[in-house]
Amino acid sequence: MTKMFRCKFLAHGLYIHYDCFRHCHLSIHSPNERNNNYIIPYTGPQDKIDWEKVFEIKNSRVKSMREGDIPPFCKGCHWIEEFDETSDEQYLSDFENYIDMIWLGHSNQCNANCIYCFAYQEILEHRTIKGYDIFPLFKELLDKKIYNLEKNPNAHVSFAMGEPTIMQNFDDIIKTFADGGNKFFALYSNGIHFSKMTEKVLAMPDVEINVVISLDAGSREVFKKVKKVDKFDTVCENIKKYAAAANKPKGLGVKYIIIPDINDTKEEIDRWLDICINKLNVKYLIADIEEHWFVQKHGEVPEYIKDLLRYIRQRCLDANIDFEFYDRALVLHL
Ligand code: SF4
Repeated sequence: MTKMFRCKFLAHGLYIHYDCFRHCHLSIHSPNERNNNYIIPYTGPQDKIDWEKVFEIKNSRVKSMREGDIPPFCKGCHWIEEFDETSDEQYLSDFENYIDMIWLGHSNQCNANCIYCFAYQEILEHRTIKGYDIFPLFKELLDKKIYNLEKNPNAHVSFAMGEPTIMQNFDDIIKTFADGGNKFFALYSNGIHFSKMTEKVLAMPDVEINVVISLDAGSREVFKKVKKVDKFDTVCENIKKYAAAANKPKGLGVKYIIIPDINDTKEEIDRWLDICINKLNVKYLIADIEEHWFVQKHGEVPEYIKDLLRYIRQRCLDANIDFEFYDRALVLHL
């Protein structure tokens, strides 16, 4: 029986970066290979996109992965699925030419300086990457049905770099896709700026938005160490308003990224849990481990951090709160 491999994002994902298209925004286990997660250059509406080439590259990667030649930037990624040649499902739609997952990473504008930020290097080097006008690209994606809601009604738009709610035209981006029939959005926000559009979409019955705010602290002091801005109280107020607006259990998630030597104590986690559950009325919590540290340690996580992660999960179970481990914590199989 021959083992085969696939990744739904390699087949149908599009990360719109500020200077190129990539297959996804991840490569979390191969950070040194991240730049090889690359499809074609794209720097704005002046660039004509050769979609045939985009899908030719994708199809060739999909074919190699199926045959066991995993791209280096995918090695170790938890999104890789295994199947075999006798499986009923052969995932032949992986070779069809459409996109059903978009990550927006064309701007890194932000109002915080989180010490673990994915965009940190770009922020250090460029401070703010000047985002280009992304609407001609959206129009093309929707008009040509490259972003194809008929092929996949669960297609997803995710904001993947910078602070989306301060992005110029944030409201219009949501509106463009919602008007085009898109139902699923993922929004990773630091919660410093309150977005009325986000509040409105959280309450909509026919749109599923998953807003995730990484609070990472239960106190103002620790928050300042992580985010390098003094906005703990503001973020808590905004979380409370979003939590009140959310009409689905996983509409609003609040995250704790464990960062060794910064927020890795049970006392701080208890403060975070108490605030989220008892004061802000959050119904969905998430835990993860800081990526740069995780990679440096080659994924070898000391027992005390695993215990903290198990502790968060148990407290959520006890409080009847939805809970999830994200990427690094997830692959530990706790
Ligand atoms: S396997 Fe992981 S790194 Fe590779 S395309 Fe899929 S999500 Fe991205």
